[in-house]
Amino acid sequence: MDFDETPQEAAFRAECIEWLDANVPADGGGARDQTAITISDPDVENAYVARCKAWQRTKYDGSWGSITWPTEYGGKGLSGIHEGIFKEEEAKRVAATGVFAVGIGMAGPTIIGHGTDAQKERFLPAMLKGEEVWCQLFSEPVAGSDLGGLRTTAVRDGDEWVVNGQKVWTSGAQYSDWGILLTRTDPDQPKHRGITYFLVDMNTPGIEVRPLVQITGAAHFNEVFLSDVRIPHENILGGVNTGWGPIMTTLSNERALIGGSNARTRFNELVKLAQQTGTDQDPVIRQELAKTYTRMEILKYQGYRVRTATSRGELPGPESSTMKLAISLHFGEMGDLVMAMSGAAGMLHGDNARDEGRWQYEFLGQWASRIGGGTDNIQRNTIGEKVLGLPPDIRVDKGVPFRDIPS
Ligand SMILES: Cc1cc2nc3c(=O)[nH]c(=O)nc-3n(C[C@H](O)[C@H](O)[C@H](O)COP(=O)(O)OP(=O)(O)OC[C@H]3O[C@@H](n4cnc5c(N)ncnc54)[C@H](O)[C@@H]3O)c2cc1C
Repeated sequence: MDFDETPQEAAFRAECIEWLDANVPADGGGARDQTAITISDPDVENAYVARCKAWQRTKYDGSWGSITWPTEYGGKGLSGIHEGIFKEEEAKRVAATGVFAVGIGMAGPTIIGHGTDAQKERFLPAMLKGEEVWCQLFSEPVAGSDLGGLRTTAVRDGDEWVVNGQKVWTSGAQYSDWGILLTRTDPDQPKHRGITYFLVDMNTPGIEVRPLVQITGAAHFNEVFLSDVRIPHENILGGVNTGWGPIMTTLSNERALIGGSNARTRFNELVKLAQQTGTDQDPVIRQELAKTYTRMEILKYQGYRVRTATSRGELPGPESSTMKLAISLHFGEMGDLVMAMSGAAGMLHGDNARDEGRWQYEFLGQWASRIGGGTDNIQRNTIGEKVLGLPPDIRVDKGVPFRDIPS
């Protein structure tokens, strides 16, 4: 593993710092970004979406819209290691980026990998300019961990496909312009085949978005009902019945994205909370702080390992599952620690809570990372099978035509 930046990487970091310091708006986000996702208030949410769009546009205009995307789509065409450096510096300045996680972080790389030239031209520049926000219409009431069990159907009608079904837990559907949508198009094939991946305009008639309120009080995700939604054939990504390839690209980008989100809370912010709550002299809290610091350092070096592999041109494999699991366990333990430091004040809500409820969000938000993007148990299965070589999970429906699997 290379711990030191090469002179070129150090020079790139200096370039990032110079540009970010000159361009991140003074009101770029800060604690208000956390609040935008903790409070169910459309005005706060819309303002947050607008800040994200404005910041993405600034980055695009300055040629920083994406570090890794090819230059012909507005990216810088640099390596994952450069992207890691830019994101590290951007996160320190708390710029608003959240609403582009699905678009730029997941849908974009999938279109780059599997899209037609026309799809790349139509969608990629608009994403990078911050003009279009995307959501991910994958999970269904009976298809989450077992995504191959999805039941939303698409039936061809001339140059269009007619989609019917229900999605759930769709983050950001309420303000998204486009969605990546999975449908069953051939129930006679085994469940991981016969799936088709669509790019869908969220304003198409027949799409109904209903908010779901989370444990944090925010309605960050939704149920999405699709009734006779007509999608042009040209919006299929990766071919009819062969959606599983692009799905894997999207999911590995999602895990890498969540696994790379270590910067949510910095250690000095935890120390400050301990000082403010007077728990900095408590020996048990001090011990937990030390453990947290150790975990953060380990996560940092795990991140370097993935980045080193990327800079050598290797594709990160099951490391993304290891990182995702390690991060979600870390969020859980850190959430418990901030509540222990807050004491009875941890029960306060809204304006009464310290730092606009940020620490309550930290605690209650831990389950989002432990479930979203694949649960802890699913990451353990992947690590068991792909890293440790343990026997695979039992799959009684393997090879069985989808229509013969009991629902
Ligand atoms: C904050 C958040 C945002 C999300 N955003 C989106 C989104 O934008 N788009 C989208 O499509 N989805 C989204 N999801 C859904 C997410 O992908 C699913 O919740 C997740 O994959 C788990 O699926 P499930 O909820 O159906 O739970 P289930 O799959 O029913 O799992 C229930 C429990 O069983 C365990 N389990 C299941 N199968 C196994 C197994 N084989 N071995 C061991 N244990 C197992 C799980 O670990 C879990 O504890 C989001 C979820 C959250 C929490």
